[in-house]
This record gives sequence, structure tokens and C-alpha cells, in this order.
Amino acid sequence: MSRPPAAASPAAAMLEVRDLHTRYGRVEALSGIDLRVPEGQIVSVIGANGAGKSTLLNSIMGVLPSSGEVLYRGESLRGVPLEARVAQGIGLVPERRDLFSSMTVADNLHLGAYSRRRLPWKADLDEVYARFPRLLERRKQLAGTLSGGEQQMLAIGRALMGRPKLLLLDEPSLGLAPLIVRDILKIVQGLQQSGVTVLLVEQNARASLAISDYAYVLETGQVGLSGPAGELARDERLSASYLGG
Ligand code: ATP
Repeated sequence: MSRPPAAASPAAAMLEVRDLHTRYGRVEALSGIDLRVPEGQIVSVIGANGAGKSTLLNSIMGVLPSSGEVLYRGESLRGVPLEARVAQGIGLVPERRDLFSSMTVADNLHLGAYSRRRLPWKADLDEVYARFPRLLERRKQLAGTLSGGEQQMLAIGRALMGRPKLLLLDEPSLGLAPLIVRDILKIVQGLQQSGVTVLLVEQNARASLAISDYAYVLETGQVGLSGPAGELARDERLSASYLGG
């Protein structure tokens, strides 16, 4: 049974998206998205290939132009450039991970601190290495030689160097073996436990619902279903198309 939201003290919204529209030329990829990410929660967006999940994260981040409202901690992000969004505490881990494959693990992490004015970052680097001992072991190795799971850890670690309060994660399980997917999702839970709010985009519906508080199902640019993650995991409409029947 899901608990009704506590009327007296609902968690403040870290992120609110209202009537968001994003176009690629004449094609509308997002057609009026409304969603809310309460502070301290993991909210997932699930949906098939091409549903608009990456477009949604890139629109929130300001990488793609869009219309509608995006509110971060109650303030509109309209006109706020990408670097300023990062400086305010929004981090994006993109789907293709965008690592510099011919640079070392350590250098990729240093680049994560680049956009931040607040120095020094040594303590943050130590924190990332404490969270991901594998990255410490491989700090001198070229990023391109890491396994898929390690690359995902590096991409998350690099985003953590920006000290995000809100982390947007684009399909962190993409291309990973099931056991590694489990490790990565445990890492995402660990981020939540250390106070990071997470908006998680996934095709892997069952695994992402298992760690989420709330979820939205995106269907061709619109929210089809939404609800507490535990309820959606039992929803027949979802199980037919996304949870393997
Ligand atoms: P996937 O899991 O395959 O990445 P997705 O849910 O993230 O899918 P998007 O990548 O956001 O979906 O794509 C949403 C729609 O927008 C798709 O129809 C896609 O073909 C289209 N689209 C995405 N990027 C572009 C682009 N650069 N130019 C034109 N159309 C695009």
C-alpha cells in the first residue's frame, strides 16, 4: 500500500516541470510534460526507445531549447545558461556517458570540477574515490579501456565532482550485464542516501521501479501513466508493455 502524501509537510519540490514542449524542427518530441521531483527522492521516467526520455533530460538541463516552465528549488530556470545550472547544483550524466576516452580516469574526474567556481576540489575527489574504490585503483588508466560498468561509475563520479543536489541520470544501465545493472542501481540508491535527489531515466523499467519513490511512463512525448513506483510495478497496463508481461 502506498502512503498518501502527508498533507501537513509534503517534501518540497527540487524540480518541477510544467507543460514542457521540445521540438526538433517540425517534429514535436515532447508535448506538454508535467512532472515533479520531491527533494530527497528518486523519481524515474521509463519509456520505450524514442519516447523522449533523453530529450526530457536535455531540456531540463538547458542543452535543448524548450517552452513551458522548469522550476529548480522553486525558481524558474528560464534564460539560465547551462553552466549556471551546473553551478546551482544540477548534474547530468548523459546516455552515452561522454567520457574523454583517451584521457585518464583521474583527468576525467578533474574535468568534472572544472565548471565549479568553488575550490579546492581535492576533498570531493577523495569522496568520489571512497565511493568508487575501483576508480581509485584505475585512476591512471585511460577511460576508454574501462569496462562498461566502470565507465558508468566514472560518468557518475565526474558529475559528483560538480557537487550536484539534483542528478539527472540518462539510462545508466544501458548496455550493462544484469549483475552490473544491479551494482549501478545500488550506487544510485547510495546517492539518494547521501542526500542527492535523482531523476532517473531508464528503459529497464523493473529495475528502476525497484529503487524509485515515484515514476512517470513516457509514451511518444507525453506522460501516459504516473504514480508511486510500487503501485506502477503492479500495474497491469505497465506489465504488458514494459515489465515482460
Ligand atoms: P532512446 O532510449 O532511444 O534514447 P528516448 O526515449 O531517450 O529514446 P529521445 O532520444 O529523446 O528518446 O527521442 C525522442 C524523439 O525525438 C524520437 O522520435 C527521436 O527520433 C527524436 N529525436 C531525438 N533527437 C533528435 C534530433 N537530434 N533530431 C531530430 N529528431 C530527434
